[in-house]
Amino acid sequence: MNFQLNEELTLLQQTAREFAANELRAAARRMDETEEFEIEVFKKLAELGLAGLTIPEKFGGSGFYDQGMGNQAACVTLEEINRICASTGVTLSVHMSLFSSLLTKWGSEEQKARVLPKMASGEWLGAYCLSEAGSGTDAGSLVCEANKDGNDYVINGSKLWITSAPYADVFIVFARTDKAQKTRGITAFFVEADRKGLKVAKKEKKMGIRGSATCEVLFEDCRVPAANRIGDEGTGFKIALDTLDGGRVGIAAQAVGIGRACLEEATAYSKTREQFGQPIANFQAVQWMLADMAMKLDASRMLMYRAAWLRDNGKPCTAESAMAKLFASETANKAAKDAVQIFGGNGYSKEYNVERHFRDARITEIYEGTSQVQRIVIARNLLGD
Ligand SMILES: Cc1cc2nc3c(=O)[nH]c(=O)nc-3n(C[C@H](O)[C@H](O)[C@H](O)COP(=O)(O)OP(=O)(O)OC[C@H]3O[C@@H](n4cnc5c(N)ncnc54)[C@H](O)[C@@H]3O)c2cc1C
Repeated sequence: MNFQLNEELTLLQQTAREFAANELRAAARRMDETEEFEIEVFKKLAELGLAGLTIPEKFGGSGFYDQGMGNQAACVTLEEINRICASTGVTLSVHMSLFSSLLTKWGSEEQKARVLPKMASGEWLGAYCLSEAGSGTDAGSLVCEANKDGNDYVINGSKLWITSAPYADVFIVFARTDKAQKTRGITAFFVEADRKGLKVAKKEKKMGIRGSATCEVLFEDCRVPAANRIGDEGTGFKIALDTLDGGRVGIAAQAVGIGRACLEEATAYSKTREQFGQPIANFQAVQWMLADMAMKLDASRMLMYRAAWLRDNGKPCTAESAMAKLFASETANKAAKDAVQIFGGNGYSKEYNVERHFRDARITEIYEGTSQVQRIVIARNLLGD
């Protein structure tokens, strides 16, 4: 058993940490205020190889995937990026963990050669369209449809809550190819953003991760060649769920990053803010909040790395990734709440980052399966349902 990152992962951590400190600190505040993602940030991190961590080297990836460390590398990187900017963090997480990992695992050689080099280089940004207005937790009831017409499929329907939609160059889309079946009637496709009939519609005004654009995406007679179908007809739901096992590890990393920012900022503040003639860090009530944050963050990180390691080694990790996401997201929310408390009135002010962390943390308990869903997944695994 080894609790240390190896040399390559340590180097990657340093690269991501420096990038976040130099390129994201100011951008994170700006994006939160303007509610506009700065796409140059993604292009720059891609130049460092950070967009291709889950992609094989022969398709332009940075080599971690080939060494069985793709998900671990993604975790190391996402923790550092999210520690400074959760909007950039979710953009990268969807790109790597939901789009690129999916195509790497389930795409044909031709599809991978066509798309993955552009994902690794950052020429293309990826999005993932599963949710709809009527189907969130119950994703298997989606109604967006894809009907075969010659060598094409024609997609009609609408998707909701799609991260990165206005900037995405390519979308994974889950659509119904057989109305007689429920989950076995769903098929996965990738759809390039410039295809006729694909329209990015209403943008949500959000509580947190405001720099990341979340939009409705409409498909109106959107014609897609059968060559863009991923896997066989009817396998889409299986692909979606399998991909979420990896995606949830990415969201665990996001939560660990946000939680760590809260711990570090609250620790530093408690040493400088004085009341009753001494730093508030001297008060046991404050120390206990910091101690609990540190303990739960460490536990979250270990759950996250275990799930990432299992996935990298091709072992089942459905319950383990649900545990990592659940524990890390609840920890991040408690850490953010306590960080605001330690900052007192200043914690409630936009002058300090903890106010943003508090808003950003909230989403980690909702997307890629709510906390209730993670508990259902874990319980099913226990009970053998
Ligand atoms: C900012 C943001 C970004 C997102 N990005 C994407 C994206 O890129 N792609 C994408 O496809 N989706 C995305 N989503 C959608 C997200 O995954 C869903 O919001 C989430 O899965 C929950 O679905 P819902 O909102 O429909 O809630 P609902 O399913 O309506 O759930 C409402 C409540 O009911 C509870 N509930 C539902 N069913 C059960 C049950 N069986 N047992 C117990 N409790 C239950 C839930 O836990 C929740 O508390 C995003 C959402 C947000 C807010």
